[in-house]
Amino acid sequence: MSNRPLQIPAGDRVRRGAAADGNRQAAAVPAARKELRASKPALSIAIIGGGPAGLYLATLVKLLNPKHEIEVWERNAADDTFGFGVVFSDETLGGIEHADAAFYERLSQDFATWDDIDVHFRGQVLTSGGHGFAAISRQRLLAILRERCEQFGVTIHYREPAPPLAQLRGSHDLVVGADGVNSLTRAARAAVFRPELDVRRARYSRAGPRISVQRLDEHVHRGARGGQLDAQWPD
Ligand SMILES: Cc1cc2nc3c(=O)[nH]c(=O)nc-3n(C[C@H](O)[C@H](O)[C@H](O)COP(=O)(O)OP(=O)(O)OC[C@H]3O[C@@H](n4cnc5c(N)ncnc54)[C@H](O)[C@@H]3O)c2cc1C
Repeated sequence: MSNRPLQIPAGDRVRRGAAADGNRQAAAVPAARKELRASKPALSIAIIGGGPAGLYLATLVKLLNPKHEIEVWERNAADDTFGFGVVFSDETLGGIEHADAAFYERLSQDFATWDDIDVHFRGQVLTSGGHGFAAISRQRLLAILRERCEQFGVTIHYREPAPPLAQLRGSHDLVVGADGVNSLTRAARAAVFRPELDVRRARYSRAGPRISVQRLDEHVHRGARGGQLDAQWPD
């Protein structure tokens, strides 16, 4: 019989409340809330990119002031899938619950959770416990965020590349670049954002086998092109 822990249903294991550290992102939402209360003038906001960041931002801004008008542009269709899952630490979930308890409750219904990570390296398995993670499929996460945006009256233009930045800056009070790791918005304003990108040779691969695993399995190899990490995620 396996002595491995079983997957634990999500819900009561998650840290309840925001991070104790006031400088952490999780605690930033309540502070911003004071600044953007409904008494302030409503803004028209353009968000470039309807990934997790763009859609979640749209919902949080609407919670702060429902009068803000928000338009999101997403070049892909609503049900396109890229990537497998999104993983949240307990601390991140605490921040999400603190910011929007209803969204947190909805997310919790679809989580897979685990504590242990097995690292396979040079024939050895090193198990590291006590991590407290929860994961959800990217497509599910985006569908829940989309529903929440629709409830709040956020306009999402799917299958539409965002208009040029200069045009959006003329038509909206605030433009947000949520266009991912290779952000063209950030590149267009590189002198302001001053990004530091440090590309290394390590490779990371993901597989989607039709098996169920109960913990995060990471296999570290030295491949022909340098270090490689293969990961299997609980589902
Ligand atoms: C191998 C790998 C593993 C990862 N593992 C994890 C993990 O375990 N947990 C985790 O939380 N994160 C993980 N991430 C990171 C995760 O993918 C990102 O944190 C997350 O997707 C970032 O969300 P985002 O909304 O900022 O960007 P994205 O998800 O990239 O979304 C950006 C969106 O903008 C759209 N877009 C871009 N340009 C335009 C345009 N001009 N007009 C209209 N739409 C546009 C894109 O189509 C896309 O939908 C991983 C990433 C990689 C590569």
